[in-house]
Amino acid sequence: MKPAPFAYHKARTLKDAVTLLAKHKGDARLLAGGQSLIATLNMRLSAPDLLIDINAIKGLDGIARKGKFVEIGALARHSDVEHSKLIAQYAPLIARAMPHIGHPAIRNRGTFGGSIAFADPAAELPACIVVLGGEIAVSGPKGKRKVKADAFFKGLFETALRPREMITAVRLPAADKATRVGFAELARRHGDYAIVGLAASARADGKALKDVRLAYFGVGDTPVRAGKSEAALAKGDVEGAVAALDLDPPDDVQASAAVKKHLAGVLLRRVAEQLMEGR
Ligand SMILES: Cc1cc2nc3c(=O)[nH]c(=O)nc-3n(C[C@H](O)[C@H](O)[C@H](O)COP(=O)(O)OP(=O)(O)OC[C@H]3O[C@@H](n4cnc5c(N)ncnc54)[C@H](O)[C@@H]3O)c2cc1C
Repeated sequence: MKPAPFAYHKARTLKDAVTLLAKHKGDARLLAGGQSLIATLNMRLSAPDLLIDINAIKGLDGIARKGKFVEIGALARHSDVEHSKLIAQYAPLIARAMPHIGHPAIRNRGTFGGSIAFADPAAELPACIVVLGGEIAVSGPKGKRKVKADAFFKGLFETALRPREMITAVRLPAADKATRVGFAELARRHGDYAIVGLAASARADGKALKDVRLAYFGVGDTPVRAGKSEAALAKGDVEGAVAALDLDPPDDVQASAAVKKHLAGVLLRRVAEQLMEGR
C-alpha cells in the first residue's frame, strides 16, 4: 500500500520544527528515522497531512557525559549508541539492550528519541530508561520541560508528550563502580520484537544488592515494574522474587498470557544471575 498524500517540510532548526508543529492546524508528525512511522503511513494506520523531517537539525544527535549524567540526543541513531564507548562505560544497560533492537539496517536509521516517542510496549529502550530513572527533555511552544521516565509512558503507544512537543534528549544517571545491570529477552528470532523482556539495575552493597529495579516489556501497555520481586531480589531471594511476580500480561499474537508469565520467571532468574555476578 501507499501512504495517503501529505505535505513535507524539512526543519533546519529546533525552533523551526517546534514553531511549525505549533502553527499547523491539522495533523502534523515528526519524521525521525522513519522506521516505525513510514510503516504506519504505508499501512494507513495513520494519515497526517504534514510530515516535519527533523533529521537535518544540528546538535540533536550527540552522546555526551554531563556531570553525573549521560545525555543521548533524540536523533542519535541506535547504531551510534550501540557502538559508543561512552555508552558502554556509563550506560551499560543501554549498550546491552541495543543489539536486540531490530536488525543493523533498522538500527542505522532508527533514533533513540523516536523509539521513546513511539512507546511500543514491546520495545527495549522505554523499559531501560524507566529502570535507570532517566529523564526526557522536551521542547514545545511553551518552552522546555523535563519528564521523569517513570511518568512518561502513559498507555499503549501513549506518552506524556503534549501534541505540539518534541523530545530533544534523554538523560540517564551515569553508571559507576557500584552499578549492576541485567538484560534479557525472549524473541522468536533475534531482532524480532520481544515476546517478553526484562531490564534491570541495582547497586552493589558489599556482596548484596540494593536499589534493585526491574522493568518488564512485552507484558502490558507500558514498561511494567515488578516491585515485590525487586524487594525479594534485594534480599538475595531469587526464587522468592520469581514467586512474587504479579504480572498480568494480555494474550497477544506472539504468546498466551500463561506463556508470558512463565517466560517472565525464566528471564528473572537469568537477570538475577547477571546482577549478582556483576556481569
Ligand atoms: C522490522 C523492524 C523491526 C523492529 N524491531 C524493533 C525492536 O525489536 N525493538 C524496538 O524497540 N524497535 C524496533 N523497531 C522500531 C525501531 O526501533 C524504530 O527506530 C523506533 O521505534 C522509532 O524510531 P524512528 O527514529 O525510526 O522514529 P520514526 O519512525 O520516525 O517515528 C516514530 C514516531 O515517533 C515520533 N517521533 C520521532 N522522533 C520524535 C521526537 N524526537 N520527538 C517526538 N516525537 C518523535 C514520530 O512522529 C512518530 O510518531 C523495529 C522496526 C522495524 C521496521
